[in-house]
Amino acid sequence: MIKQEALYSGKAKTVYKTDDPEKLIMEFRNSLTAFDGKKKSEAPKKGYYNARISQTLFKLLEENGIKTHFNSMLSDTEMVVDAVEIVKIEVIVRNIAAGSLTKKYPFKTGEKLDPPIIIFDYKSDEFGDPMINDDMALAMGLATKAELAEIRKLSLKINSILIEYLAERNLLLPDFKLEFGRRKGKIVLADEISCDTCRFWDMTTGESLDKDVFRFDKGDLVAAYREVAKRIVPGIKL
Ligand code: UDP
Repeated sequence: MIKQEALYSGKAKTVYKTDDPEKLIMEFRNSLTAFDGKKKSEAPKKGYYNARISQTLFKLLEENGIKTHFNSMLSDTEMVVDAVEIVKIEVIVRNIAAGSLTKKYPFKTGEKLDPPIIIFDYKSDEFGDPMINDDMALAMGLATKAELAEIRKLSLKINSILIEYLAERNLLLPDFKLEFGRRKGKIVLADEISCDTCRFWDMTTGESLDKDVFRFDKGDLVAAYREVAKRIVPGIKL
């Protein structure tokens, strides 16, 4: 496979074309941003840890019957993925109240959310990813009714699989963000699942081991990501 020009460069990943129109290369970079890009930084090995965490979790989900865009690793930070048409909805799954939920609604940080809450945001930098509902998604033509139902069902299944895997590694999953794509008429999981897109809390101490360390200057970001990689990725070289 031959890596070609960059198709898109986001805040933490760059996507490249390849000589195969069905395949893309997704590179996990060391850069990170928060608060709509207002806070920026670089963290050594962040791309590596996030790529390996994503790889491991995509593989786990595939083994449990979830279709993902993941193919293989080209290098420590580059993932070969299926080209998909991204659904412009960010799906947030919440198991424990944290972050914006406790600022905009009367939830207390750490409060268990049972059943989990699924939130849809319109994926748009221009509009600042506003929360939407099914009617808005339909009106904007973001997905069909059947696709929305499928996305919801898959998100809940992914949530259950991840919660169980992480609990065995002494990690809580308060919330995370998923993105889906269309491939050959089917909805598949795309993007990444990493310390940039999930909240991970140590089950014993409640310590944040995710991007909140960067957002709220809670300590050593690389040490937190390394700790998650150590627990999640079997045999990883740290
Ligand atoms: N999230 C993300 N990308 C986004 C927005 C949210 O990965 O553009 C993740 C975030 O890391 C957290 C969860 O989704 O794990 C819930 O985030 P929310 O939008 O509520 O932001 P908060 O204000 O809670 O950080």
